[in-house]
Amino acid sequence: MIRFVLCRPQHPGNIGSAERAIKTMGFTDLRLVAPERYPAPEAQWMATNAGDVLQETKVCSSLKEAIADCVATFAMSARGREWSPQVLDVRTAAVRAREVQGDVAFVFGNEQAGLTNEELFACQNLVHIPASKGFSSLNLAQAVQVVAYELHMAVDVAIPSARSEQLATVDDIEGLYAHLEEAAMKSGFMTPQSRVRERWRRLFSRVPALEREEVNILRGLLKALLK
Ligand code: SAH
Repeated sequence: MIRFVLCRPQHPGNIGSAERAIKTMGFTDLRLVAPERYPAPEAQWMATNAGDVLQETKVCSSLKEAIADCVATFAMSARGREWSPQVLDVRTAAVRAREVQGDVAFVFGNEQAGLTNEELFACQNLVHIPASKGFSSLNLAQAVQVVAYELHMAVDVAIPSARSEQLATVDDIEGLYAHLEEAAMKSGFMTPQSRVRERWRRLFSRVPALEREEVNILRGLLKALLK
């Protein structure tokens, strides 16, 4: 299942427009992380006949909660960053998302400031919609529309995976990061100000479809070393 997550959206009209955008492409799962104002009449006006999506739209208190059970996560940003997880264009991301077995989230930032670095690094991929160099920031709901459209078009090209191993969820991978941090701190390898955290998030973001068992092997090793 594909999930759309809007982080801290400010304008309820954009929420309604996003609901309509995802419904037109056959999707229904929209989650809002700490919306400024929702439910709101402007959301209903803009959603028009997408009312049933509106009924199902879930409000979450944190991004972590919204994506915890996902096996792949894609952060949407118009801006390149000095440090980021693996960077993909939206078409490539849509094809990859369709190949994954399990829940997948596309995460959008708010109108004013986009995604924070923390929100970005909670995801495994950074995705750009290629746009004009001089003005590349789309309206939030229009960015949702482009992603939904690419996902819709990617269906035919996706090759179903032959493997049946259980994929690691965001929760599993966060457990590994916490474990790595514990080992790095206790061994004196890492100081609290260190940016090494971002380096290993970047490293693992380049491993598509990390399996739960692989995460467990690494955690088992860390556990043994910590003893
Ligand atoms: N002013 C913000 C952009 C807000 S646009 C900034 O400078 O970051 C709202 C959201 O739409 C963004 O956070 C992003 O998730 C999405 N978005 C807009 N344009 C995009 C683009 N060209 N590529 C990928 N995502 C985009």
